[in-house]
Amino acid sequence: MLDINCQYKSVEVSGKKEINMKFYKPKSLLELFETSEKIEGKKYFLAGGTDINVQIKNGMIKDEPIIFLNHLTELKNILQSDNHIIIGALTSFSEILESELLKNKLPFFQNSLKNFASPLIQTTATIGGNIANGSPTADIVPLLLILDAKLKLFSKSKLREVPISEFYLGYKKFILKRNEIIGAVLIPENAETGYETFYKKIGSRKALYIAKLAIAGLKKISNNKIEEIKLAVGSLNEYPRRLFKVEEYLKNKLVNEIDFADVEHFLQKEITPITDLRSDKEYRYRVCINLIRTFLNQ
Ligand SMILES: Cc1cc2nc3c(=O)[nH]c(=O)nc-3n(C[C@H](O)[C@H](O)[C@H](O)COP(=O)(O)OP(=O)(O)OC[C@H]3O[C@@H](n4cnc5c(N)ncnc54)[C@H](O)[C@@H]3O)c2cc1C
Repeated sequence: MLDINCQYKSVEVSGKKEINMKFYKPKSLLELFETSEKIEGKKYFLAGGTDINVQIKNGMIKDEPIIFLNHLTELKNILQSDNHIIIGALTSFSEILESELLKNKLPFFQNSLKNFASPLIQTTATIGGNIANGSPTADIVPLLLILDAKLKLFSKSKLREVPISEFYLGYKKFILKRNEIIGAVLIPENAETGYETFYKKIGSRKALYIAKLAIAGLKKISNNKIEEIKLAVGSLNEYPRRLFKVEEYLKNKLVNEIDFADVEHFLQKEITPITDLRSDKEYRYRVCINLIRTFLNQ
């Protein structure tokens, strides 16, 4: 049974357009999937609402149905199980920042998120929403990429796990099927252990800013040789991505043998820098190269 809790009609937006929106509040995960299956065409899920509400206000979402997720507490937790830290998709950024488990097991991940939005947004915005909104600027994604995180995707009859590096297909395009949601994020509990870590989020000011570029890195260097390296970028490409080709070039190189013309060659093979209202592609590309140099102490 569909549970239509509320239906807003004829709401004026900017004094011009009318919107006619339906909101659904399923009582359980099962009802969520049943509701979702019955809705034909495009629909949205509302977790924290910090992206969705802006899109409604801007008229980007007009009359597509919206299904509330935010009351489904089974998707709101941080646990340790089978050598992984499991973060439910509805966990808020405040809960991530306050978690003792993350402080002990994944302190680099936790600390890197301190510049996420503002305390007010942190209390509402969820990890699942940050990933599923599909913005190139999503802060959490470059971090999850270098930590080899997986996503647990839920549907009515199936549960599957996919590496986050395989989730995005293009700008706001994912492998999520029609009636599938992100249920949880899995991070190997030792993903940071033994690595030197690096995260830089570049913006126009020091607080409450969306990244012009974000880069995350892990490296293990022994006797001047790069034994292991993982790099990922946000806000540079149509979607955040791991720099596998650059990593492959750098792995097993002596640090003083790195040729940055080669680094640029491989970087260009895997990214297509974007220009938007925050910055242009030349700036983003140059800052990215400079930050890779900084990370490698070059
Ligand atoms: C003032 C302000 C500042 C911000 N600052 C930052 C910032 O510094 N860094 C940053 O990265 N972002 C920032 N954001 C963007 C936003 O807060 C984040 O992207 C946030 O994590 C979105 O989560 P949410 O729960 O609010 O998503 P919602 O708005 O509820 O949903 C976003 C999208 O994800 C889908 N969705 C949500 N949950 C799921 C799920 N479990 N499974 C499948 N689909 C789902 C929805 O259908 C929707 O399309 C900011 C936003 C505002 C308004």
